[in-house]
Amino acid sequence: MPTVRYQKGEMVMGRWPGSSLYYEVKVLDFDAGSSLYTVIYKDGTELELKEPDIKPASGFQTRPRSRSRSRSPGRRRSRSRSPARTTRRSSSRIAASTTTNDALPPRRDTRLKDSLEVRLSPLKQTKAAVNNGNNKPEKTEEKPKEENNTVNNKGVAEAEPDKGQGRYNLRRRKDDGDAKPAVAKPEQLEEEEAKPAAAPAAPTTTPLDFGGKIGAYFWLLFLPAWVLFLVLQVNQEDPSLTNAPPLLPPPEAFWELRAFGLVLLWILFQAVLYTLPVGKLSEGMPLWSGERLKYRTNGFFAISVSALTVAVAVHQGVDITYIHSHFLQLAVAAFLVSVLLSVYLYVRSQCAAAEQLALGGSSGNMVYDFFKGHELNPRIREFDLKFFCEMRPGLIGWCLINFAMALAEMKQQGLDAPSYSMLLVNLFQLLYVVDGLWNEEAILTTMDLMHDGFGFMLAFGDLVWVPFTYTLQAYYLVRHPIHLSPPAVAAIIALKVVGFYIFRKSNSEKNAFRRNPSDPKLSYLKTIPTATGKSLLVSGWWGVVRHPNYLGDLLMALAWSLPCGFSHLLPWYYMIYFVILLVHRDARDMSECRRKYGSAWDEYCRTVPYRIVPGVY
Ligand code: NDP
Repeated sequence: MPTVRYQKGEMVMGRWPGSSLYYEVKVLDFDAGSSLYTVIYKDGTELELKEPDIKPASGFQTRPRSRSRSRSPGRRRSRSRSPARTTRRSSSRIAASTTTNDALPPRRDTRLKDSLEVRLSPLKQTKAAVNNGNNKPEKTEEKPKEENNTVNNKGVAEAEPDKGQGRYNLRRRKDDGDAKPAVAKPEQLEEEEAKPAAAPAAPTTTPLDFGGKIGAYFWLLFLPAWVLFLVLQVNQEDPSLTNAPPLLPPPEAFWELRAFGLVLLWILFQAVLYTLPVGKLSEGMPLWSGERLKYRTNGFFAISVSALTVAVAVHQGVDITYIHSHFLQLAVAAFLVSVLLSVYLYVRSQCAAAEQLALGGSSGNMVYDFFKGHELNPRIREFDLKFFCEMRPGLIGWCLINFAMALAEMKQQGLDAPSYSMLLVNLFQLLYVVDGLWNEEAILTTMDLMHDGFGFMLAFGDLVWVPFTYTLQAYYLVRHPIHLSPPAVAAIIALKVVGFYIFRKSNSEKNAFRRNPSDPKLSYLKTIPTATGKSLLVSGWWGVVRHPNYLGDLLMALAWSLPCGFSHLLPWYYMIYFVILLVHRDARDMSECRRKYGSAWDEYCRTVPYRIVPGVY
């Protein structure tokens, strides 16, 4: 009967297969038959290790990791601008490259079964793996990126041959799909004394979203075309979505230098407000490196100053109904800015250190990464480009456009005040934006900020999609007045209040919990611990459904569409789009959370079976 040296739940150091690196792991189980310990790494990867590959945590001393002292070829590679850089986290290749000259074996389309065997096969040595002597990165001769990513995405670990250490079993978690990255591997291999690392290296990438590489081409073309269609359509006498698309206007209708200048001026104005040393400096969630970025959360200040400036401008006779009459030209100008910004983001991401890249946008495919966003938190000094674009020009611009539509309605229909429908749409959406800016810190725990890279998807979404499609209801009402009875107004307001309450409470609850899980005010909430050290809320709002915030948001979206009546589908476009967006977003988040939390996430899903609508979905 073999002796059990390490007990269940004990934190020990586990050697990573095929390397001399040890990471902190938790012992989950011991199989007396095979004498293998099942351990879980901090990123949720479960492995079976032999006893010689485990050391007591107390026997390790932490040694600071210094780039300058390092002899690690892998680390040096990480600074490379070549394709090698994108694979820095793909350390299986790096690892093997230091030990063998054999060629990369063809990809194995191994079907993952309940137990996935990690075959440790050799890889070709890359130039990047060679110390160039001056500590500078070298361009590398690499296998095509496509191949890298396939390997990574398939999660079939390829590393150095197992030198008599026995085989490692990488146990696939229940429900893991073939496309899931199975392992997070160490980023370096040094033939030196094993040394501890704070956490396992990040996985290279996540499964591709949005239809993958082909999908990225599609969305790059479709999204701008769809915005163009909506903007042309909403200006029609009968803006029915079933009508044939309107004919394209002449080229001059698309472009006006003044419109482009105004868009730039608006962005610049918001940038100045963002950089002013007013308001709180909030900390983001810890990054892979453990670092926490600081964000100037002065959004409420920014919208207040913006509102005041616009009020003064209107008082001084500035006709902001220009926004209504030049909507297409403004949208085209914003689109151009978003494209230029995306190109800049992609180019600069080529120089970013590997730990600054987003998992989701590091496929190695240029078009996909351009679309999805390669760098996680691109910054110019303290200026966080993603946070700024997410929260400022588009969101505050949305309110400005709505206000211009209200003035345009009064002008076109000869009214002294906006219609009830226009007022409801304006006030509801203003409340949404003001609330977002008042609670700006809460965005730091959302998917966009924590996981998504900043690329075309978000740049276009923030600068074009939000301000030029979320305003379609107000735009529609300018030419299509809807009379609402007082009971209808009351019912719509009640719906908005309920939706807003659910949305705000649930978002605040999660945000407060993520910021301080031991907050005494939250002690009544039940939680499930996970192997990452974070817990999951399983009562309160997050015990009702898995995305209570989406439920609140959808109820509010309904309240925004109802004031536009039922004559056309176009003002309902936001509602329809939002259902699709949130269902897809929920699916993305589910797979990301399953990857992160493994069996704890499965347990959460069992306890809270519905995703968004209790008893329905
Ligand atoms: P969430 O704010 O719901 O964030 C999801 C993250 O929350 C997960 O990745 C996980 O991250 C954490 N989490 C999930 N379940 C739990 C739990 N049980 N306990 C603790 N933490 C949990 O997602 P979004 O970023 O998608 O949405 C934020 C808000 O923005 C929502 O209200 C949404 O409706 C709104 N939104 C609006 C849009 C619009 O266009 N109007 C577009 C998109 C979103 P971790 O565990 O790593 O902390």
